[in-house]
Amino acid sequence: MILARAPNAYTRSPLDRVSSKRDDAAFVAARLADPASLFVPVWQAKSLMRGVEAGAPEAVLLTLEAAVALGVETRPHALLGLWGDRAVFALDLSAEADPLPALAGFGDVSFTDLRQVAGLLPPAEASVLAHARGLMHWRMRHRFCGVCGAECAPRSAGNVMVCTGCGAQHFPRTDPAVIMLVTCRAGGEERGLLAHSHRFPLVKMYSTLAGFVEPGESLEEAVAREVYEEVGVRVRDVRYHSSQPWPFPSSIMLGFYAEADDPALTVDPEELKDAQWFTRAQMRDFESLGLRLPRVDSIARRLIEDWLEAGP
Ligand SMILES: [Zn+2]
Repeated sequence: MILARAPNAYTRSPLDRVSSKRDDAAFVAARLADPASLFVPVWQAKSLMRGVEAGAPEAVLLTLEAAVALGVETRPHALLGLWGDRAVFALDLSAEADPLPALAGFGDVSFTDLRQVAGLLPPAEASVLAHARGLMHWRMRHRFCGVCGAECAPRSAGNVMVCTGCGAQHFPRTDPAVIMLVTCRAGGEERGLLAHSHRFPLVKMYSTLAGFVEPGESLEEAVAREVYEEVGVRVRDVRYHSSQPWPFPSSIMLGFYAEADDPALTVDPEELKDAQWFTRAQMRDFESLGLRLPRVDSIARRLIEDWLEAGP
């Protein structure tokens, strides 16, 4: 059993989600008029920050005055929760061609992809920005009912969409994805399986296997199926490690370890460029192989680091 030794990025939200207050219209209206309330702008899936170019990014939350000037009432918005006693809303500005001129009062700010700077942001800020981004992504893709095609209207402070035609309620979606470090003791020293995917932007990066859970499938079955599909290896003893919100655009990553008895690999060339078994010593000195491990803010890296810590 390998325990998670550190929290994953995008966790540790400072918000109380106050879900019981979302249907309290007076509470929500008062918060939408409260000068202490804060608004997390999302523009075309990007988050508002300053200090990005200096390598010290911080989230920029808008005041009520700025949100009103941007027309908050007529734009998609949703209550995320309370930060201390201040309400925090997400506000989608994607309909604007360029909202930055209207934000000139906030200094040298930019809309940035959260993933590019998550490792540098304070964890609480990364978590709130991820929450806002994920919720607004869902909102923008549920403007119409999947049952009858009529328009949907927000309810529950923007956290539910209700069809104006048939009344169906649509709730925020999170798609589960499994991510797993497969290990094998065959042939002596224990080794871990890392692969290089066509999707990886870094040419030399090797990471754990991952894939989406399918309908009617348990998490353990998804782990076993994905491993077999991608590298032709049968696994047993699938064990949960930790999870990570991954609203890029709408997933949660569920981290596992699994054991293989037979290390023979049959790599699926459609999915992967390469897959290899590495000893702990090799992974600890990965750069000397000319290879890179996944980014420090990823659950893949957490799975690898915790496995390295668990053995000689
Ligand atoms: Zn409908």
